[in-house]
Amino acid sequence: MSQYHITCYCYECNGSNSETCSGKDAEKGRTAAVHPSKYKDLKGKKVNIEGVGVRVIEDTYNKRLDSNRIDVYVGNTGICRCSSNPINGMRTVTFYQKNE
Ligand SMILES: [Zn+2]
Repeated sequence: MSQYHITCYCYECNGSNSETCSGKDAEKGRTAAVHPSKYKDLKGKKVNIEGVGVRVIEDTYNKRLDSNRIDVYVGNTGICRCSSNPINGMRTVTFYQKNE
């Protein structure tokens, strides 16, 4: 378990492109993103985010951002409201072992 800075992203602030770097389309309730430096190790792993639920690591965010962060995909909302999403904040995160 560790503490991560949880933020969210949507269809709008992802440049109107829901494709993840895994090649799959991002999906609300499933997709989360990590820093590019951590992606190779965490790709496809499930993570439980306190107060949010289980997500799958299948995307990355801008490499210039702090790496102690997980971005949660919140889907197509029409207008980006990510900065006021209640998901945002420090939360306890547990990475499941592979195939769990
Ligand atoms: Zn957004």
